[in-house]
Amino acid sequence: MDCLFCAIIKGDIPSGKVYEDEYCYAFMDINPQAPKHCLIVPKLHIASADEITEENSVYVSKIFEAVPKVAKLLDLSDGYRIISNVGEHGCQSVKHLHFHILGGKKLSENMG
Ligand code: 5GP
Ligand code: ZN
Repeated sequence: MDCLFCAIIKGDIPSGKVYEDEYCYAFMDINPQAPKHCLIVPKLHIASADEITEENSVYVSKIFEAVPKVAKLLDLSDGYRIISNVGEHGCQSVKHLHFHILGGKKLSENMG
């Protein structure tokens, strides 16, 4: 399957790795929308949050267990925002589930 984030997880495409465990991989976004902008993705290909099921949701819970570790590694003690875009209206451009972690400044109150 031709998936950019699966290729990044495999190491076929280089990325600025922040954190990795058995279930997830976190790396810096190539086009940052905040001073610190990281992506966390499951190591299992799940197309979007709309494809989360009872069978694959362990990957999602493991991602959220990793979030505080990633935030610490990025020095985001003042806070951050987690976003997952879904489908056309959500402006999802890469069809592999990912959670944006944005921080490093006070973010806009406008989310949409
Ligand atoms: P989406 O728009 O699907 O929610 O987010 C996809 C994100 O992936 C975008 O923020 C984009 O900058 C990032 N991205 C796209 N291609 C690459 C890449 O090759 N490497 C990295 N590190 N990030 C990428
Ligand atoms: Zn994938």
